[in-house]
Amino acid sequence: MFSTKDVFDMVVVGGGPGGAMAAWAAAERGIDVLMIEKDREIGVPVRCAEGIAVDTVHRFLDPAPHWISAKIEGVRLYAPSGASLEFTQEGMGYVLERRVFDRELANRAAKAGAEVRISTCATGLVRDADRIAGVRMVTRGREYTVQCPLVIAADGVESRVARWAGINTLIALRDLEVTTQYLLDNVRPDKGYCEFFLGQQIAPGGYAWIFPKSSDTANVGIGVCGRYTRHKSSTAYLHEFIERRFPDSTPLAMVVGSVPVAHTLDEIFTDGLMVVGDAAHQVNPISGGGIGTAMIAGEIAGRVGAEAIKTGDVSKKRLAQYRKDWDEAYGNHQRRVYRVKEAINKLKDATFDATAERLGQKDRITLREVFLTALRHQPGMLIEVVRMFARI
Ligand SMILES: Cc1cc2nc3c(=O)[nH]c(=O)nc-3n(C[C@H](O)[C@H](O)[C@H](O)COP(=O)(O)OP(=O)(O)OC[C@H]3O[C@@H](n4cnc5c(N)ncnc54)[C@H](O)[C@@H]3O)c2cc1C
Repeated sequence: MFSTKDVFDMVVVGGGPGGAMAAWAAAERGIDVLMIEKDREIGVPVRCAEGIAVDTVHRFLDPAPHWISAKIEGVRLYAPSGASLEFTQEGMGYVLERRVFDRELANRAAKAGAEVRISTCATGLVRDADRIAGVRMVTRGREYTVQCPLVIAADGVESRVARWAGINTLIALRDLEVTTQYLLDNVRPDKGYCEFFLGQQIAPGGYAWIFPKSSDTANVGIGVCGRYTRHKSSTAYLHEFIERRFPDSTPLAMVVGSVPVAHTLDEIFTDGLMVVGDAAHQVNPISGGGIGTAMIAGEIAGRVGAEAIKTGDVSKKRLAQYRKDWDEAYGNHQRRVYRVKEAINKLKDATFDATAERLGQKDRITLREVFLTALRHQPGMLIEVVRMFARI
């Protein structure tokens, strides 16, 4: 359990959903995998609103009550005027208990044969001539090197591993969503709904959200485009939102973080290394959802990596399959979503208001009705926005 083994087929840096899925997929193909996590606990701290689409989860796991806080049957989208659009769909999403969910994924990797080392931080890559030959790491003050032919960089939005490999991971400020979130008590959220609030005054270049956790608690947060945070922080925007909406709430936890709402990096693999999840900017550029996409990318990288190791060829050419499979699974769709995001960012609050008013005449609106109304009135982008949020 506390092995000091220092030779593996694959080292996965980062124990989030991307890393755990990569370790799981590789280990179940008989690959000798080490997954390291710098924090003392997998899944903690939770920097997430914890929403995920049901079909993404079911692709990999059967749902279990201990990692589901709420089942989501609908999405409500509020225009700046307060007019709302709502659509429902049975089995749309979950609000997870992520600290338990992340552990479940790490556990799956371990059960498949991967070794998991917590409190272990990668500090550099080891090279043999031009080839990546291992990872330098520190476990509770002990510095050492683990040799391996293949590294998976799943070390999140602040990734350094890909940069060590010479990959350009820079992100434009306009593609970085700066976020603050509280877990609030005493809010009585609508348990079956995820709610989103748009508007330049509320969250310029982003949105505010309320994701229910229980009958009294909710993740209430805000994401603001990095360009707008120079003069007013995401925390200041969120405090205003909470003061207006939940003046009697009690904060139980606070997180700040950023989300890369960009394209996938141009380079997500090189000789002996693949980049996965937030580290590779594999996130829905409109909703900022990255749990499911990190899992999808991790599974592909683990599978492609396992096949490459088995053939003894971890070259860039061999690993190119990762990009191909990723683009097919989500990357091509992500490009389209990014274009929609660009268009939305140009819309004025008044356009959102007018469209929401026009579509929101009914008490409840189904996705089908949204589309039929859209065909009649061509209200354009707001329809796309609703669809993207529904996929969290
Ligand atoms: C406020 C907020 C709300 C969000 N809400 C949602 C949501 O509702 N739904 C959704 O789908 N997405 C959401 N996201 C995004 C989501 O959290 C991420 O996209 C997702 O966690 C990405 O998974 P990952 O495995 O790529 O990275 P992470 O989950 O960030 O995991 C990376 C891991 O690598 C570890 N690590 C980093 N460096 C090292 C190192 N040198 N050595 C060892 N370990 C290292 C980190 O400690 C971390 O555990 C939200 C993000 C934020 C900030």
